[in-house]
Amino acid sequence: MADPGDLRPIASVDRMLKTPDVTALIELHGRALVTEELRCLLSEIRQAVRDGDAMPNEGDVFASLLSRLDYRSRSNLRPLFNLTGTVLHTNLGRALLAEEAIAAAVDAMREAAALELDLDTGRRGERDGHLRALVCELTGAEDATVVNNNAAAVLIALATFGEGREAIVSRGELIEIGGAFRMPDIMERAGARLVEVGTTNRTHARDYRKAIRADTALILKVHTSNYRIEGFTAEVAGAELAAIAHEAGVVLLNDLGSGTLVDLSRYGLAGEPTVRDAVAGGADLVTFSGDKLLGGPQAGFIVGRKELIAEINRNPLKRALRLDKIRIAALAATLALYRDPDRLAERLPTLKMLTRPEEDIRQQAERLKPNIAKLLERHGFAVETCRCRSQIGSGALPVDTIPSAGLRIHRKNSGGLEKLAARLRTLRRPIIGRLNDGALILDLRCLGDEVGLLEGITQVATDGLW
Ligand SMILES: *Cc1c(COP(=O)(O)O)cnc(C)c1O
Repeated sequence: MADPGDLRPIASVDRMLKTPDVTALIELHGRALVTEELRCLLSEIRQAVRDGDAMPNEGDVFASLLSRLDYRSRSNLRPLFNLTGTVLHTNLGRALLAEEAIAAAVDAMREAAALELDLDTGRRGERDGHLRALVCELTGAEDATVVNNNAAAVLIALATFGEGREAIVSRGELIEIGGAFRMPDIMERAGARLVEVGTTNRTHARDYRKAIRADTALILKVHTSNYRIEGFTAEVAGAELAAIAHEAGVVLLNDLGSGTLVDLSRYGLAGEPTVRDAVAGGADLVTFSGDKLLGGPQAGFIVGRKELIAEINRNPLKRALRLDKIRIAALAATLALYRDPDRLAERLPTLKMLTRPEEDIRQQAERLKPNIAKLLERHGFAVETCRCRSQIGSGALPVDTIPSAGLRIHRKNSGGLEKLAARLRTLRRPIIGRLNDGALILDLRCLGDEVGLLEGITQVATDGLW
């Protein structure tokens, strides 16, 4: 009888490393990773055989190795299906870029570019120079600068004007965004002393006026991006606040958060403040994100008065918060699309998804339902089409939702739902839905690739959940 610990039939790591199949894997994944995985695999097999399992043949060992390497080399950043119903999902990377922006970014990645070189004069140029004219044209601002994200935009603006001085904010606008961005903390980091005025639900012009002192550097207006105060409320509109600030000779900084460059009501979406309106309303500086409603890569814009922007650019923090050429290229291409508002909803994925007609999504759900129901019913799940509501996300229009449609997957024993959701996340192209009310909802608003979705669900149905 053969010694059960005898692994000669599948032999050693060294011999397997020399087989043509494994050599091909080394070319793909590198020697170190392949050797490490092979070693682990053979040691597990050795243990299993000692424990009484049958000896696998070399083909099985190779197949196992293949799937382990495949799993190891998959990035967590791989593309996925965002069926959460939140179009600008911060945890899923916010805006998807327009093809024009992708092409510009790829060019910038591949070749040298005149990032800080003025091609006309041969002298040193400026990064912001690639965006300034376009941003000013689209917002009506005198000048503009761009940094890493909107949090950075607020930070550098506060640090430049408010350091060691006071900044006035309404108690109704002391926001926290996604845990890490809390206005009072950002102020502290920027070295500005926070002066709260008004109450949570009502702040009046006289509250701001009373708080202004010799030490006041700025008044900060913050868009309440992710909540809304309703009922007995009062806030001071931007234009009135600008008048108060200018009377006292202090800067009005308006943090719009998402902000938008176009009036969204034009596309049938409820109104989010436009950057142009904020500038026209007299704000000295306006800050907003690049990857929220604007639909570009992560970035933070500061637009406003020329001498103030120049001062921000002289702050050494600017260097620490600056953008690379890839994002500048993508931003410039994204902004250029705004020059043609009639085609914007076709070309900018964020807007395209937000304006996708409910009927179109409903038809897609009807089309997919029979196949998906058949695939999942063998695992005890029932699938039906459903109406649902999508959100813009990333703190734009927090209360308004958009009617949408999708698939509702459920089972008497809802425990299996979490298992299904978990299995869908491990796919080569993960499928991310939303667990809600004892069902897994797949909101189809952001679904383009129906075939890919069916492939993923087929894989789950075939391999099982466990
Ligand atoms: C989203 C948001 C921020 C932070 O912007 P990021 O681009 O995420 O850094 C700041 N202020 C407001 C009002 C926001 O909505």
